[in-house]
Parts: sequence; C-alpha cells; structure tokens
Amino acid sequence: MKALEEKIVKEGAVLPGNILKVNSFLNHRIDAAFIMEMGEEIARLFYEDKPTLIFTIETSGIAIAMAAAVNLGIPLVFAKKHKSGNLSGDLYKTTVHSFTHGTDYTVVAEKNFINENDRVLIVDDFLANGKALEGLIDIVNQAGAVTVGAATAIEKGFQHGGDALREKGYKVCSLAIVDSMDDSGNITFRQQ
Ligand code: 5GP
Repeated sequence: MKALEEKIVKEGAVLPGNILKVNSFLNHRIDAAFIMEMGEEIARLFYEDKPTLIFTIETSGIAIAMAAAVNLGIPLVFAKKHKSGNLSGDLYKTTVHSFTHGTDYTVVAEKNFINENDRVLIVDDFLANGKALEGLIDIVNQAGAVTVGAATAIEKGFQHGGDALREKGYKVCSLAIVDSMDDSGNITFRQQ
C-alpha cells in the first residue's frame, strides 16, 4: 500500500533494536481515517477467503483489526495478555514471546468466542519474528477453527516471521514490507 509506505517514511522513526516507531498514526495517536483505508485494503485482500471472524491481540492490533472487521462485516475478538499463567475458566491459552519487551507472556481468549465453525482472519499491527501470529494461530487450532490467513499493517521482512509462515502454507499479506532500515532513517520496501 503506497500511502502506508509514504507515511512510514515521513512519520516513522527507527529506534535501536530494530524497532520502527509509528506512534503518530498507528501505535499511540490513531489516524482513524487512514486506519479505515487500511481496513478496506485488508477486506479487499481477504474477501474471497470468506472469513467469519477477525482475531487480534491487545492492544495495538485492535484499531486495524476493527477497521478490517467493519469492512468485512464480521465480528472481532482480541486475545488478552496476562502476566501469570495461573488462569482458570473456559479459556484458550498460549504463550507468546514479545519481540518489543523481550519477555514471555500468556495470551487468553474465551472459548465461547471462537468455535470450530469459524474461518479466522488474524490481524495485527506489526509482523516481526512471527511469535504473536503463531500464538494466535495456536488458539485458533485449539478451537478447531480454520485460519484463512493473516494480515498485518507493517511487516519487517528482514526478521523473516512472515516468510516462515508463508512457507508453512499460510496466506500472509502485509500492507507494507520493510526490507531494510537503519539508524539514519533509511527505509527500503519489498516490491509486492
Ligand atoms: P513478532 O511476534 O512478530 O516478533 O512481533 C510482533 C509484535 O511485536 C506486534 O504485535 C507488535 O506489537 C510488536 N512489534 C514488533 N516489532 C515492532 C516494531 O518494530 N514496532 C512496533 N511498534 N511494534 C513492534
């Protein structure tokens, strides 16, 4: 999505540790109209896969997932992060390693919100090593549902999480794929 690439170049900042900061439109301040455009694009890419449910992870995936859900006319469930693995109740649980925080955390979703009839489209803001998406896919599998694919706003292609999932056969679409970035703010994108 050309407009997203331009926004990343104009407003993004490259932080130490391969972090791309896009707080002006995606991760802190939300450019609602632009996020809705990204949701439209995700809907266009996945309409033919007939998803019945969007699944994301709190917090920063929610806005773009909501935009995709509105455009596809389907509900949205966001997995919740918990510090402790000590949880009871009818929950699906998995463990995710956080790229940005360097720690493991438990992710849960209520069992009655995803079931075996669902065709799930996973949506997130960033795709780096792919651990967040793998955790969400694990929950979809526990529910006996089908993962129709994953859509992310920004994929950092040089961390290879997206390509690993594609090699496993998943349809993974990212609206912008950063192939390289450096501390001086030089960013190159994969042609798609
Ligand atoms: P992964 O699990 O694919 O390694 O990382 C994806 C998750 O880490 C996303 O949910 C996102 O919140 C966070 N993340 C990874 N890389 C970045 C980054 O460069 N910038 C920001 N803002 N978040 C990131």
